[in-house]
Amino acid sequence: MDKKQFIENLKTNIGNTVNTVGEKVNKFISIKKLEFEIGKVKNEIDKIYKDLGIKIYTAKNNGSDDFGDLDAICKQINMKKDYITNLERQIVLINSEDPMRETPVKYTNEIPDFIKHPENSQNIGVFKFCAECNTGNEPTCDTCKNCGKKI
Ligand SMILES: [Zn+2]
Repeated sequence: MDKKQFIENLKTNIGNTVNTVGEKVNKFISIKKLEFEIGKVKNEIDKIYKDLGIKIYTAKNNGSDDFGDLDAICKQINMKKDYITNLERQIVLINSEDPMRETPVKYTNEIPDFIKHPENSQNIGVFKFCAECNTGNEPTCDTCKNCGKKI
C-alpha cells in the first residue's frame, strides 16, 4: 500500500466512524423523543381517569346515575392507548437494527407522520405496519397505502 492509498483509507475510516457516531446520536434523540411523547400521553390518560372519577363521584353524591357519555370517554382512552402502542412499537423497531432490511428505519427528530396523535384522528387503532416500507396503515387496510404490498 503506498502512502497516498494509506491516507485515503485513513480518511474513509475516519468518515465512517463519524457517521456511526452521528447515527447513534440520531437514534438516541429519536428514542428520547418517542419516550417523551409516551410520557405525555400517559399523563393525558391519567387526567381523563381522574376527571372520570370526579364525574362519577359528583353524580353519585348528588343521587344521580347520569355519568355523561362514558362510551366516548372510554373511546378516548383507548385511542390514546393505541397511540402509545404505536409509539412503543417504533422504539422497538429503532432498537432492532436489521442490516438485511431493504428500507432502513429512518431516525427523525419528530414523531413520524404515520403515527398520528389521537387528537387529530377519529379512527386511530393499532396500525398494521408494512413489513416492506414500515408505513403504519389503518387497521382496516389490506394493502399498504405507501407501497401497495399486501399486509
Ligand atoms: Zn409498504
